[in-house]
Amino acid sequence: MKNREIIIVGGGMVGALSALLLAQQGFVIHLIEKNPVIKLANDAPFDLRVSAFSAQSKKLLEQVGVWQDIPTDRLCAYQGLQTWEVGSSKLTFDSAELGMEALGYIAENSWIQAVLWQALKQLDNVVFYENRALLSIKNNESSVTVILDNQQSIEAELLIGCDGANSATRSLLNIGISAWDYRQHCMLISIKTDCNQQDITWQEFRETGPCAFLPLAKNNASLVWYHSPEKIKMLNSLTNNQLKEILLIEFPKLSFDFNVINKGAFPLTRRHAQTYFKGRAVLLGDAAHTINPLAGQGVNLGFKDVQCLVDLLINSSDLPMNKLLRRYELLRKPHNLLMQTAMDVFYKSSKSNVTLVRLMRKAVLIVAQNSGQLKNRVMKYAMGY
Ligand SMILES: Cc1cc2nc3c(=O)[nH]c(=O)nc-3n(C[C@H](O)[C@H](O)[C@H](O)COP(=O)(O)OP(=O)(O)OC[C@H]3O[C@@H](n4cnc5c(N)ncnc54)[C@H](O)[C@@H]3O)c2cc1C
Repeated sequence: MKNREIIIVGGGMVGALSALLLAQQGFVIHLIEKNPVIKLANDAPFDLRVSAFSAQSKKLLEQVGVWQDIPTDRLCAYQGLQTWEVGSSKLTFDSAELGMEALGYIAENSWIQAVLWQALKQLDNVVFYENRALLSIKNNESSVTVILDNQQSIEAELLIGCDGANSATRSLLNIGISAWDYRQHCMLISIKTDCNQQDITWQEFRETGPCAFLPLAKNNASLVWYHSPEKIKMLNSLTNNQLKEILLIEFPKLSFDFNVINKGAFPLTRRHAQTYFKGRAVLLGDAAHTINPLAGQGVNLGFKDVQCLVDLLINSSDLPMNKLLRRYELLRKPHNLLMQTAMDVFYKSSKSNVTLVRLMRKAVLIVAQNSGQLKNRVMKYAMGY
């Protein structure tokens, strides 16, 4: 790249990490973000949107120098992971068994975005276009031009689309998607408990869909409940106290008292962009792929996209742009597809009530629990190694 100017559309976790890594390498970044990025307070109630970050994602956030900016009382390192099917034995993972300091880290998406933006604001080679959305994209031979909703025009050598699941970049480039609706919704419920911080995350598989517990810092936690859209709509219409009464029955494993602080519902949709690039524009993160959140892999896959593209832009800068972007697609697409498919097989089989599938599922859980090294290898793969 000659003048090293890059446009990034979307300043969520994936866009902000891309911007920071590239700006730290001396690229001039034009960062376009549609929504205001809110300044956060340490004592604010926990946000509903939280993610489990793999050790590999943590490493990337350390590399750009923001990991230490996440307040320790907003971050939970979890040591154990348990998963089981109703009436079946547990599959358990333990960080000590793997020789790791933690299996992963749970934090609010908004805090990760905030610390990345805080670091970006220190740099003078990042130009911010906040509260601005994209109107059009024009791909040229050696550059790409975007027009914003205030008619401002920006030209650069590359456009990186990180504008999430409903990506305007993807639509404006006319990149199709393969998608399906799981006909399930997922409810996120923030709770404040009367016990100390927990460090084990668990997931129970039921015929109606999984139920999960994610420990958060201090005495906070997040419950995840998959069910039919109708049931989730009904639950979402309840008061926090009414919801708590239902949780006491439906989440019997919660062995402590708690209060419901916040709740929200999300439809589950799988999407995969048919191609990851067109001309001088490329898609990363949820703009390229969304995955069933079952195993908490979405943003971790997005961070791997970032790492891959940034490595290519730095180490293969002699390649013509179309070859470089093709290489990015070849490296990332099969990996993302494999993870999407693995999650779907797991999810679909967990909901099947066909007796043979049930028996196989239970057998797989028992074999997996006793497989020693194999079980640990699978966990390490999920941790990004
Ligand atoms: C219920 C649920 C639970 C999840 N749990 C986990 C988990 O535990 N672990 C995990 O790894 N992943 C998890 N995920 C997935 C994870 O949340 C996403 O993969 C991640 O947020 C994607 O980040 P992103 O930056 O690609 O997109 P987004 O977070 O969607 O960010 C896109 C950004 O682009 C901006 N934008 C949008 N349109 C425009 C436009 N036209 N112009 C300019 N800016 C624009 C938006 O304002 C936003 O800031 C979960 C998802 C769900 C739904």
